[in-house]
Amino acid sequence: MFDRLKKLSQVMTRTRDAVFGQVADLFDQREVDDALWDELEELLIRADVGVPTTEYIIDATKERVQRQRIKDGDRAREAFKSVLVDILNDSDQPKQLDIPFGKLTTVLVVGVNGVGKTTSIAKLTGYWQNQGHKCVVAAADTFRAAAIDQLKIWADRVGAQVVSHQHGADPGAVVFDAWQAAISRRADVLVIDTAGRLHTKDNLMDELRKLYKILAKQQPGAPEATLLVLDATIGQNSLVQAREFQKSAAINGLVLTKIDGTAKGGSVFPIVRELRVPVLFLGSGEHLDDIEAFDARAFVDALVSPGAENASVR
Ligand code: GDP
Repeated sequence: MFDRLKKLSQVMTRTRDAVFGQVADLFDQREVDDALWDELEELLIRADVGVPTTEYIIDATKERVQRQRIKDGDRAREAFKSVLVDILNDSDQPKQLDIPFGKLTTVLVVGVNGVGKTTSIAKLTGYWQNQGHKCVVAAADTFRAAAIDQLKIWADRVGAQVVSHQHGADPGAVVFDAWQAAISRRADVLVIDTAGRLHTKDNLMDELRKLYKILAKQQPGAPEATLLVLDATIGQNSLVQAREFQKSAAINGLVLTKIDGTAKGGSVFPIVRELRVPVLFLGSGEHLDDIEAFDARAFVDALVSPGAENASVR
């Protein structure tokens, strides 16, 4: 646990440096007063938390501080952190994606181009293969020839099979073939890449609906999960993307990428709060193993701490 926290704390150095480190410092050696709440509000807005969720966080923290008769900053910081953890843990969907053995689980992956979708699919496939699962990947983003090639290279590295068609082919046909391949190979996971070009365009969303129909025809309940990939570095834009995707995709969980990049980090709170969908995985770099299952407490500890060496004690 300590090693994990330390690693998370290290990869999140830039995010913390952007604003959240100052949030942690704000509580240092001071009493709780009105000025503290004003400064906290300003920092949270700057960290991309957005006005409604900032207000919620301040009110909920104040309420805990009053209820517990907290006077000093250190304990107030703990109350504040517990509010953040509660936001991330409060969702309508399971906080873990369990993949059973001996039964096919289909995972549809959606997201706007550039957020790290292809990389995340490769990382997730590697992650599940490492756990002993057999994975098949469907290259159903047929708009981008490069994405198909990239997937093949990544999947080769982790020993998974990719099912692909020509550039421009019908994504539904790719999904159908990939499903057949997964069943005949007795795979545990079918990971489906989807086109991410124009999240606001109706045709793309129609295509997603088509994929849902094809999968449901193969197996009632499929896909078992739809993961939305979001880029942590683009702040409130991610919230806009998430809202759009939620209109046509039944999102079960989020993959938050680039948490090693320069991110203000705060947009994850309004996204989880509004969508009521949990973060399931964090992407923390460009390598295959730069992925980990999300843990709200570890994330908040890494985010709201003044320095890496203090991450485990705060
Ligand atoms: P896609 O267009 O959504 O499929 O995005 P890609 O997977 O091609 O990734 C876009 C860029 O983001 C590439 O340069 C990736 O190496 C980079 N990238 C993806 N995930 C991460 C991450 O977690 N951290 C960092 N630093 N870069 C990432």
